[in-house]
Amino acid sequence: MENTSDNRQENQALTLSKNISMGLLAHVDAGKTTLSEGMLYLSGRIRDMGRVDHGSAFLDTYGLERERGITIFSKQAVFAWKDRDITLLDTPGHADFSAEMERVLQVLDCAVLVISAADGVQSHTVTLWRLLRRYEIPTFIFVNKMDREDADRERLMEELRKKLGESCVDMEAAPEERLESLAVCDERMLEEYLESGEIRRELIRRGVSERKVFPCWFGSALKATGIEKLLDGITEYMEEKRYPDQFGAKVYKIARDDQGNRLTYLKVTGGRLNVKETLDGVEGKVNQIRIYSGAKYEMVSQVEAGRVCAVTGLEGTYPGQGIGGESASALPVLEPVLTYCVELPDGCDAHVMLKNLRQLEEEEPELHVVWEDRLSEIHVQLMGEVQTEVLQRLVKERFGVLIEFGEGNIVYKETIASPVEGVGHFEPLRHYAEVHLLLEPGERGSGMQFASDCSEDILDRNWQRLILTHLEEKEHKGALTGSAVTDMKITLLTGRAHQKHTEGGDFRQATYRAVRQGLRKAEGVLLEPYYEFRLELPLELVGRAMTDIQRMNGEFKGPETENNLAVLTGQAPVSEMRGYQKEFTAYTGGYGRMSCVLKGYGLCHNPVEVIERIGYQADEDVENTADSVFCAHG
Ligand code: GDP
Ligand code: MG
Repeated sequence: MENTSDNRQENQALTLSKNISMGLLAHVDAGKTTLSEGMLYLSGRIRDMGRVDHGSAFLDTYGLERERGITIFSKQAVFAWKDRDITLLDTPGHADFSAEMERVLQVLDCAVLVISAADGVQSHTVTLWRLLRRYEIPTFIFVNKMDREDADRERLMEELRKKLGESCVDMEAAPEERLESLAVCDERMLEEYLESGEIRRELIRRGVSERKVFPCWFGSALKATGIEKLLDGITEYMEEKRYPDQFGAKVYKIARDDQGNRLTYLKVTGGRLNVKETLDGVEGKVNQIRIYSGAKYEMVSQVEAGRVCAVTGLEGTYPGQGIGGESASALPVLEPVLTYCVELPDGCDAHVMLKNLRQLEEEEPELHVVWEDRLSEIHVQLMGEVQTEVLQRLVKERFGVLIEFGEGNIVYKETIASPVEGVGHFEPLRHYAEVHLLLEPGERGSGMQFASDCSEDILDRNWQRLILTHLEEKEHKGALTGSAVTDMKITLLTGRAHQKHTEGGDFRQATYRAVRQGLRKAEGVLLEPYYEFRLELPLELVGRAMTDIQRMNGEFKGPETENNLAVLTGQAPVSEMRGYQKEFTAYTGGYGRMSCVLKGYGLCHNPVEVIERIGYQADEDVENTADSVFCAHG
């Protein structure tokens, strides 16, 4: 089996690439930016190591990032190590900016998960681990801050294996021990190890690329120790990727430079990209190709497959877009859960600001900008408070207007309690389309899934495809509150077209109506976002915290005791917990530490109240009607 797939690859005129696009991922403060500085320094790319703490880090280019010492936007740097060219993509670690990070994941060949020896595997680390699995990214682990006195290697390795899996292999262990850990990750390696007592590099490479092995190294980014071993290891164990000769590219980010030029960041995933070229299905023309390193860039006339660059001159491109032979990617998994009303200063024209915000939305698609016609208000959806600060700053810098935000409201979602069938007809005179769908509740966090279970004898394959496209293209609205539906599988059961009278748009109408009819018939379930929290506080205050969590309808484990502090972990609705930070800081008098990450959507704790407050009238939502349309003459 293996051989056939290899042969097939050989026959397709594929080019081997020496490029590696590598992402650094970690919980905030684990030391990603410091590690990037270290890598650039050791590779000779920069002369001095910048310091995050002094506001001089090479990759923290945005003013607010330098001031606050956190990475907000993903950035890149290029350097060479051994025979490989590495493009380093620093990604934001703060939970508020996860969408930005997720877009970068689409173009990574591998990731380095940075774990702080001081904190070990935190819940956000586990979220990142899940994302890396979802995007199938080969992953290396670097345990940072080993210079700290309390760093305990054995214990950390144990924790990695317990929380992330047995396939985490300590690459610095004694050879015998290392080979044994590798052997248990994969049958081929085990076989070879038992036969010869060795494991060839090719097999380890294969294991890494198939995510069967996760090599781990230890060191200190700040003291620049262990970084060379890490880089040697990555170049040793990263398979050289093969790319097709036909041109393809994946867009992962849109931004603007200081002069206001629109930048399309992309990875070339096939053939070559040339300057002055036009691209299939893309407006405009490749004007400049820039290879960014920190805030500076170098212009090139051509980029080969496997490399990441920023292109000027293209219009209408968007993150996730596939160009040429490359296909589009799925929507991000982490979405904003809070919606804010934008408050404008006196004399500021709302429509002009709306246009400006739409421009930013293009760069940050998770920033859902909504014009509330009824209220004449602009609403934006964000991941959290820190992001409002960034947005305020961006708008001030770019458009010279100081906007404020009203209190954030929760973005609710809906699903259904049990399977239901929805039927839609669209049959006005000389039109015809009929669609039958099965709507089933899915697992929590599974999102929307679509399938067909309809014979092609009954409905032509092209019509079926069209129906699936219509299912995927729209955010379907639930009947309880008009919120987007999620965690649902929709299956096309059957449908009918007319030989003469069916036009493309007819199936769109019938499909939308069928979904909506099913949703109206089903028992709706309201969902709300949950935080996963960790509270550390003095022992004598833990009773208070436990009472608070119960009041907020949260759940917790513990308390456990660590270094004379009580630790509570658990989950609670964002709606209840989002204002808690202030209260917590106040009663712990600064001796407590609270961290929250978004866990995802769960059952709403107060559906009756929310439904009443939103006051959505499904019957009056004429844009989302469940009614079929029949020919007036029967
Ligand atoms: P990021 O948020 O993951 O980008 O982390 P930073 O690189 O900004 O580092 C966060 C903090 O940890 C800064 O104060 C760094 O100086 C510190 N730090 C980074 N690496 C190390 C290390 O190896 N050892 C120690 N002791 N501190 C470190
Ligand atoms: Mg950083």
